[in-house]
Formats: sequence, structure tokens, C-alpha cells
Amino acid sequence: MKVFNFGSINVDMVYRVPHLVQPGETLASRTLETVLGGKGANQSVALARAGVEVHHIGRIGVSDQWATEQMAAAGVGMEAVEQIEGPSGHAIIQVDDHGENSIILHGGANQSFNREVLEKQLAGAERGDWLLMQNECNDIEVAFDIAQKRGLAIAFNPAPMSDNVRQLPLERCSVLIVNETEALDLAETQDADEALAVLAERYPETRLVLTLGSKGALLQHAGNQVREAALPVKVVDTTGAGDTFVGYFLAGLIQGLDEPSALQRACRAAALSVTVAGATPSIPTISVVDRSQD
Ligand code: ATP
Repeated sequence: MKVFNFGSINVDMVYRVPHLVQPGETLASRTLETVLGGKGANQSVALARAGVEVHHIGRIGVSDQWATEQMAAAGVGMEAVEQIEGPSGHAIIQVDDHGENSIILHGGANQSFNREVLEKQLAGAERGDWLLMQNECNDIEVAFDIAQKRGLAIAFNPAPMSDNVRQLPLERCSVLIVNETEALDLAETQDADEALAVLAERYPETRLVLTLGSKGALLQHAGNQVREAALPVKVVDTTGAGDTFVGYFLAGLIQGLDEPSALQRACRAAALSVTVAGATPSIPTISVVDRSQD
């Protein structure tokens, strides 16, 4: 069983500045760091480090071959990813001396999909394989349609949340992973437990997972609820915690763990990720996660 992850690949440009730039101001940055980002790329790396066969479905600008190489070096199958003219998805991130940030996000290649491209990129997917998606690329609804026609199991992480998610046939998801904000938004309520109950009634066949940051995660499926507390850790940087969780949870199911064990291992991996700075550099390998249990 393989995972095809249709998701964003971003180039994150992080500028360290004394203060966030003001209207009309020109400000010299102290440093510039260019790193791999995007929920899609992070989740592919998490799946690969968890030991699952993952093929990324994505597009990137021709000038950013290095990002493709980094993902391949992490063990992600990149043969279907297309390099196209024009900019990659990228984020221009200012971080000031107080750790405040401001971000300009440009979808670039992540917003250039159409049915023909997706059909071609998913040509290797066979009945029973998984299609994982987040919400940083266009034509997610087309990917849902292709998945249904090909008999692929769908795992979806509707992040970042936007109005298009309401139009998607979410009842087709075998796995739906949301954080608290996304759950409240989807269920149109103010209470996390109520949100889970609403979503469970709406999508009775789906394994629903609600991530709750430092409070851990909840899983609801077939009338059963499992709650997993977060591991107490020293928080360095929470970037990528959600993506680590998604990759490890799905990997757990594919590797035959029962739901509580998959949830527990995903929480452990995500907790380890918050102890290290950065997104992909902080995603632990399976051996580190397993060793942390001893
Ligand atoms: P992000 O956008 O920061 O990547 P998210 O909003 O998608 O994250 P969260 O619910 O914040 O998702 O976190 C995902 C999982 O990461 C949690 O369910 C938990 O297991 C783990 N986690 C997050 N923050 C902490 C923390 N402070 N301590 C321990 N585990 C954490």
C-alpha cells in the first residue's frame, strides 16, 4: 500500500529584521534563510520518515530543483512531481527581534493544477492505495473525484481552512484530521467536543481526528472515542507539529497499528517535533520515535 500525497511544496524565505517593515519603509534584513516548507512537503517527509512508501504529487518552479532533491533525500518519491516555468509556491517571512512574524504567501506552482495534470501525476495509483491531501493546492475537488473513480482511500487535512472545504464530499474521507480551529469552523460551533460530535454524525464512516496542540489529540470512529494526552516536552518551535502528526497517524494505520496505537505514536512524533526548530528538520525518524518510548 502506497501513499500519494497531493500537496504543496513551498520555498520559505525567512528574513530576520529589527522590526516588521512599516508602510512605505525600506528595511535591510540582517539575515536570509531559504528553507523547504509547505504542508504537502512536510507531510510527505513525515510519511517517509515514518517508514511508509510515499509519492509526492506536486509542482515546483524549475529554479527550485534543490527543494525536490531535499525531499528525495528524505525518502519521498518525487518522480511524479513536475518542474514548471514560473515561481514555486513561496512564503516571504519577516521575523522581528521579539519573534513576531508577518508572512506573504504566494501560491505559484501549487495553484497551477488541472484535471489533466492530476490524472497524469496519479497514473501510478492503484485501487487500495491512499491519496492524502491538504488545502494548499487548487483543484482539490478534482483529486477527490479521481480518488473515487480509482478506488483510492482518502485522507484529508483541510489546512489552511477556507470556504472551498465546505463544498468537498468529505463523507468520502477514510481519515479526516483537523485542528481545533478547523473543527470549530467545519462544525460551526464554539466547543471542541461538540464539534467532534457534530462531525461524527455528519461523517459516520470517517476516522475523525482532532488535534489539540499541547492537550494532545482525540480520535472518533465507529462510536468509539480515544483520547491521547500530549507528551510533556520543552517547546522550541511548534512549526510542523500538525504535519508530523498527520504523516505519522496515516503511516500507523498503513503499518497495521490499531487506532489507539497509531494515535499514540503520532502524538509522540509530533511532541518530539516541537523540541527542534524548523519544519522538515524537526520531523523525527521512526527509530527516534520508537527509541523515545524506552
Ligand atoms: P501547526 O500548525 O503548529 O503545525 P496544528 O495547529 O495543525 O499545528 P496542533 O493541534 O497544534 O496542530 O498540534 C498537532 C499535534 O502536535 C498535537 O495533537 C500534539 O500531539 C502535538 N503537539 C503540538 N503542540 C504540542 C506541545 N506544546 N507539546 C506536546 N505536543 C504538542
